[in-house]
Amino acid sequence: MPETDPRAQQILQDVFGYPGFRGQQADVVAHLAGGGDALVLMPTGGGKSLCYQIPSLMRHGVGIVVSPLIALMQDQVAALHEAGVRAEFLNSSLSWAQSQSVERRARAGELDLLYMAPERLLTERGLALLDELPLALFAIDEAHCVSQWGHDFRPDYIGLARLAERYPTVPRIALTATADAATRQEIIERLQLQQARQFVESFDRPNIRYRIAEKDNPRRQLLRFIEEEHAGQAGIVYCLSRKSVEETAKMLCDNGVEAVAYHAGFAAADREARQNRFIEDDGVVMVATIAFGMGIDKPDVRFVAHVDLPKSVEGYYQETGRAGRDGLPADAWMVYGLADVVQQRRLIEQSEADDAYRRISSTKLDAILGLCETVQCRRLHLLDYFGEQGVPCGNCDNCIEPPAQWDGTDAARKLMSCIFRCESASGFSFGAQHIIDVLRGQQTEKVLQRGHERVSTFGIGTDLDEAQWRSVLRQLVMMRLVTVDHVNWNVLKLGPDSREVLAGTRRLNLRQAQPRVAARRRGRSTGVAPVVASLAAPNEAVFQALREWRRAIAHEHKVPAYTVLHDASLREIAQRLPDSLMQLRGVTGVGAAKLERYGKQIVQVVGGATLEDLDFPGSTF
Ligand code: ADP
Ligand code: ZN
Repeated sequence: MPETDPRAQQILQDVFGYPGFRGQQADVVAHLAGGGDALVLMPTGGGKSLCYQIPSLMRHGVGIVVSPLIALMQDQVAALHEAGVRAEFLNSSLSWAQSQSVERRARAGELDLLYMAPERLLTERGLALLDELPLALFAIDEAHCVSQWGHDFRPDYIGLARLAERYPTVPRIALTATADAATRQEIIERLQLQQARQFVESFDRPNIRYRIAEKDNPRRQLLRFIEEEHAGQAGIVYCLSRKSVEETAKMLCDNGVEAVAYHAGFAAADREARQNRFIEDDGVVMVATIAFGMGIDKPDVRFVAHVDLPKSVEGYYQETGRAGRDGLPADAWMVYGLADVVQQRRLIEQSEADDAYRRISSTKLDAILGLCETVQCRRLHLLDYFGEQGVPCGNCDNCIEPPAQWDGTDAARKLMSCIFRCESASGFSFGAQHIIDVLRGQQTEKVLQRGHERVSTFGIGTDLDEAQWRSVLRQLVMMRLVTVDHVNWNVLKLGPDSREVLAGTRRLNLRQAQPRVAARRRGRSTGVAPVVASLAAPNEAVFQALREWRRAIAHEHKVPAYTVLHDASLREIAQRLPDSLMQLRGVTGVGAAKLERYGKQIVQVVGGATLEDLDFPGSTF
């Protein structure tokens, strides 16, 4: 194993302002700095960028970073500039003159890092430029884009295999947050990384708290969640349809939440403006379809909410992974209900795809449903899905408030008999509401019209309320003991395996429906230590003043606020209250460049100075 290079440690501290490496970063850096190839699998927020940024600064020449998204390159380069690193990008957003200038600087040895879009790199002109430069390394970010079976496939990525042939002595590093073994193998083969050392980090994200609750009124539940736990903070809300995106965003705005809608139906320029608002502003809630998110590396997203069921565990994990990249506490919050299950099954059944695809989709849906209904630790369940083991986490809803289980065999039999009796009495089937009305002995118009107050199951279920019956039904549908006929008004039918339960040979353990009030404020008084302590009132005021100062700087430099300094750094400053540059040194994220550029102002803000006192903005820059 290579030893940690003291130079790497020095750069980490001086340039990036971090006291130590995380996870396997130090090993990756040493391996690459020593000229080796690497394949790095780390979860989102694991800290992949430093793995190639630091070796690029250590080695002679320019580090070439291949990245699939323009927005991603721009943000990374902006953040590097803030840290005083000589980095630029080449992509289609630059004018001819701007590209020329970047190329000239690269040739003059004035760059340490150059970000390039793959299609740009692979042109004759791009390769000719590389031929002329001393190269420190190649970093291929989002390497899963070479996978033809993945949903982020980029044909240009396939061409990157040429780098191995053309520049055999330049070390290459491929990085991804996509976990599965098949994708990993595909990356190795397509990018010719057979000799590369593999660095595989745990996919656990301990600062994310997973919560999945039953849907009753999703928009109201969402609003309450945001108002009570994340007022004024950045977050992402995922919805299934464009319509639901727009309606949800409007509902939030009407209730005073700063929300922006995003889906593929908006024109490209409009999408970009919406995305920028989310990235650059401080506390915007992005309401989006899954078209949004790839390449978003905003570190201070405090929550990701799903108001519709995602299609797979992979999708859910990737989407929730966008929360809390800065390591501070964040929430992955979801509500789901019977309608979600029915809707997703219908989408699969009605899709034009072939049988194999439908079978896979159906298995994936079952896996995500398993996560929703599990009574065990959600994190364990997730990690197990990715082939990792662990212990119950203490930071998910099931750990914090273990859900009760109960023997639901009798209830299930009542419900299934009721479906059967109503069907026998009328010659056709009925939907959920009607069956539950019959069970609970409700003399609704429809019940009386059909004469169902006379079936033997009428009123045998008064011991459970409506929500409890829905919970039972949802679990039966999930287990395919009851099926929903999508073509005919979503009527309920008995599944093939229902016999065993009706005959009493199979017992069912069900998850207890959550009482509605308990879904609120969960976890605030649980005794689970938050990742950082919340601030006392006077410090909170300093923190807010620092945020305001940061907003002004970001505006002035036209960069996202987080590239100036992270929330975590501002919190640490508000905690320590440094009154000199000496004391400010050593705050996480405050490297030499930032200390020199902003140190004086920060100390003044901590000392109570307002933006006007700083004669701000303008004169200091
Ligand atoms: P990834 O690309 O793996 O999703 P990033 O490279 O964007 O993750 O890093 C996620 C966040 O963690 C960034 O804000 C980065 O500055 C921070 N970070 C990375 N490494 C360290 C470290 N060793 N110490 C403190 N913060 C770090
Ligand atoms: Zn847990």
